[in-house]
Amino acid sequence: MREIGHFIGGKTLAGTSGRFGDVFNPNTGEVQARVALASTAEVESAIQNAQNAQPAWAATNPQRRARVMFKFLELIAKETDALAALLSSEHGKTLADAKGDIQRGVEVVEFACGVPHLMKGEYSGGAGPGIDLYSIRQPLGVVAGITPFNFPAMIPLWKAAPAIACGNAFILKPSERDPSVPMRIAELFMEAGLPAGILNVVNGDKEAVDTILTDPRIMAVGFVGSTPIAQYIYATGCAHGKRVQCFGGAKNHMIVMPDADLDQAVDALVGAGYGSAGERCMAVSVAVPVGQKTADALVQKLIPRVESLKVGPSNDPQADYGPLVTKAHLNKVRDYVDLGVKEGAKLVVDGRGFKLQGYENGNFMGGCLFDEVTPDMTIYKEEIFGPVLSIVRARDYEEAVRLPSEHEYGNGVSIFTRDGDTARDFTDRVNVGMVGVNFAIPVPLAYHTFGGWKKSGFGDLNQHGPDSIRFYTKTKTVTARWPSGTKEGAEFVIPTMR
Ligand code: NAD
Repeated sequence: MREIGHFIGGKTLAGTSGRFGDVFNPNTGEVQARVALASTAEVESAIQNAQNAQPAWAATNPQRRARVMFKFLELIAKETDALAALLSSEHGKTLADAKGDIQRGVEVVEFACGVPHLMKGEYSGGAGPGIDLYSIRQPLGVVAGITPFNFPAMIPLWKAAPAIACGNAFILKPSERDPSVPMRIAELFMEAGLPAGILNVVNGDKEAVDTILTDPRIMAVGFVGSTPIAQYIYATGCAHGKRVQCFGGAKNHMIVMPDADLDQAVDALVGAGYGSAGERCMAVSVAVPVGQKTADALVQKLIPRVESLKVGPSNDPQADYGPLVTKAHLNKVRDYVDLGVKEGAKLVVDGRGFKLQGYENGNFMGGCLFDEVTPDMTIYKEEIFGPVLSIVRARDYEEAVRLPSEHEYGNGVSIFTRDGDTARDFTDRVNVGMVGVNFAIPVPLAYHTFGGWKKSGFGDLNQHGPDSIRFYTKTKTVTARWPSGTKEGAEFVIPTMR
């Protein structure tokens, strides 16, 4: 059986803890590899390697650091097909979607290529007599990222690329469910000229994470995953004096106004609700048609579309979506659907019994559509993370604004309307971090920032864009007087520039 170890100090190493996790093939349900789960000592060795390598990397001028990013882009472009196949074989998303996963990560590497410009400080010449005042950005030192299973290329790159470009050394703890792509990304960075020890990958579980959270040599931790773990990591990392940002779960609503183009809205809902089997933090899981007429028309159009979704193995180019990541997750999603029925929601399309011929043990599930879901139901309150869309009928626009605004998650939301006044009012008032207008998955591009509100995001700064440079650097501000020989005598009051 293939064994996946760690990438420490520029080398691929076998695990020594004696503990392993299973990596499944979601199409067949079989175990295809085992991944080493790092011991505290292994994580500590990665941290030591990072700490040894970081000062020289920080002293390398930013243009040279950017050149490593440029070279990495060349290398990953040559390998995208193979990487997408590897990603899809462990995650279960389709090949086309796996390429999108890689592409959205690559775009943040492209952004990080601009680091010489992005790290430029601020300068105020002549702030006082012979006095200049300036701020410079310096790397933090050793930083870490802990990432989820659902974007095994994109999110590691969102974390590692800006951190490294800024002159930090990075410890990545990817999801143990699909660890192969992050390992290959680390090798590609080495081939691109990154010095050994600047990007380390430790595979593992809570033991590895807890070591990262408590080791005083780690200055900052970025996390993406479910909300309970995000809260744990935020609290523990902060208690150990680290800079921490954590991005959690979601329940993204899509409002459909009576004036919306319904065909466009239905296309958006099936793509954003069921793409990647709903395993996206920006998936739309709640549709909110406004008014009974809109709701009835939407449901009538949605039912045949959900019934005819093509579920297939992840390498089938015709498939709309593939299997869920693991059997345990499939069972969890099915349990949510059972619960929704028990709670009184109307299951108008039931995909629970779906079986794919030739792949009977795969983690496949047909699309499910609930109508008449109400805000008190568990299936509305909690994140399901599967191919399940809930319709909550809103009486009027005010109720439609209130629903996502009052939900405890606040990652993404969208509104479909042809009325500019409504769209503008909605984007202004809704209490959610990322908003789409006639756009179902409003994931901002690399040069803007990504982050949810409420229980979808913890910490002050977002991911990628200018916030990533702020997160991975500290600001030093210098007040300098030249010529230095000015004699004013001792001053006992706070200096002012008079
Ligand atoms: P998860 O929380 O189970 O795991 C995320 C990471 O935390 C993994 O590396 C895992 O090994 C680690 N981890 C798990 N349990 C831990 C524990 N008890 N102690 C310490 N570390 C632990 O999340 P997942 O299932 O891999 O990913 C899906 C979740 O991620 C969904 O909730 C989804 O909404 C969320 N997500 C959020 C965003 C965002 O930007 N807001 C993006 C992608 C995914």
